[in-house]
Amino acid sequence: MIIKNINNFNFENKIALIRVDYNVPINNNYEIIDDTRIQYSIPTIQKIICEKGKVVLISHFGRPKGKRLKNLSLKFLVPFLTKKFGIPVKFCDDCIGNNVINKIKKLKSGDILLLENLRFYKEEEEENYNFGQELSKNGDIYVNDAFSVAHRNHSSIITTPKFFLEKKCMGFLMKKEIENFKKFFSGQHKKPITVILGGSKVSSKLNIIKSLIDFSNFILIGGGMAYPFIKKKYGGKIGNSLTEKYSIIENTLEEILSELNKKNKNNILLFPKDVVISKTFDNNKNTKIVPIHSIPNGWIGLDIGPKSIKYFCNIIEKSKTILWNGPLGVFEFSNFSIGTKKIAKKISEITKNGAYSLVGGGDSIAALKMEKCEKKVSYLSTGGGSMLEILKNKVLPGIKSLYI
Ligand code: AMP
Repeated sequence: MIIKNINNFNFENKIALIRVDYNVPINNNYEIIDDTRIQYSIPTIQKIICEKGKVVLISHFGRPKGKRLKNLSLKFLVPFLTKKFGIPVKFCDDCIGNNVINKIKKLKSGDILLLENLRFYKEEEEENYNFGQELSKNGDIYVNDAFSVAHRNHSSIITTPKFFLEKKCMGFLMKKEIENFKKFFSGQHKKPITVILGGSKVSSKLNIIKSLIDFSNFILIGGGMAYPFIKKKYGGKIGNSLTEKYSIIENTLEEILSELNKKNKNNILLFPKDVVISKTFDNNKNTKIVPIHSIPNGWIGLDIGPKSIKYFCNIIEKSKTILWNGPLGVFEFSNFSIGTKKIAKKISEITKNGAYSLVGGGDSIAALKMEKCEKKVSYLSTGGGSMLEILKNKVLPGIKSLYI
């Protein structure tokens, strides 16, 4: 089984149906706050245009749940894309059907057409055969460049490519993402290898730890991820800090701890020493710094403390490979953002000194941006959920569907 990439095709006079992820964050005025995903899709579009192909872009936007919601139309992107690509971008207010096909027939070489939000059809999220087939009528070659949704079993990702037989491939962005993660798992990178996991999706991230134990030298656990371990492993008092229901995470937690024991790797899983705590979950200044295992009742751990920052930074400093996903505290509140920002800065420093760093997840990227460090890491992944899935060492459905 092989997967073709975009370099395996010449697009002259061909219609490329490209699944992109233009589900970009916007403000109330429909201004794009972060256009990374659009920016990263440009090389794929450029290659097709340069070869005198025609481009049809498909994407979802928000969660319309099968309803045609005006406020979730992709039309607002047209002027932005036109400016970004330097080519007038056309728009069609549907994504399947005769109207769409007629519009596509009128495209000339070098034209770009954006279709309406895929999720205006509930079938998009249902792995629906008919909808997938209807979408496939919109192109000659299917290109998937939407890594950030490659973990989803949605029609445009796993059903549509089936109809293209061998005429399907990954775009440049998808290729780059896969190569970077593959390389990370191949053990080709220099040691010590340090993984930093933070954030609040405890149950889904616990599974990642299992797949990283074998080749990581250090796994630093911060943010909301730390508290279940502190409670379970050390019998610590975590006050009102974030935890998920034990019934959900208990088995996985046990498995991780027993695997570490079995492999004699207990010392690779490291936790913050101290935390910044608050009585309320907001940006207040009424805070204290306490050891992580003695948070009083009624208090919440919201950031890693100064001793933890020093401890984690020392480990990062001596690492040659770093993978980071998830903030070390509630960094959205400036009073609890210091730990995350210091870690972001340290990762960019060691990258400058030759280490390889792979960072993903919207919040980690936002923290890098706060410190103006987003261009100072080796690879910035566009994947959130898909990064988490690929870190469990799984083949994503959106990749599997490109196998021929
Ligand atoms: P994730 O999507 O798993 O990367 O989680 C990101 C979220 O985790 C952010 O919105 C943070 O505010 C949140 N977070 C980080 N540390 C904590 C913490 N100690 N308590 C509660 N939420 C946290």
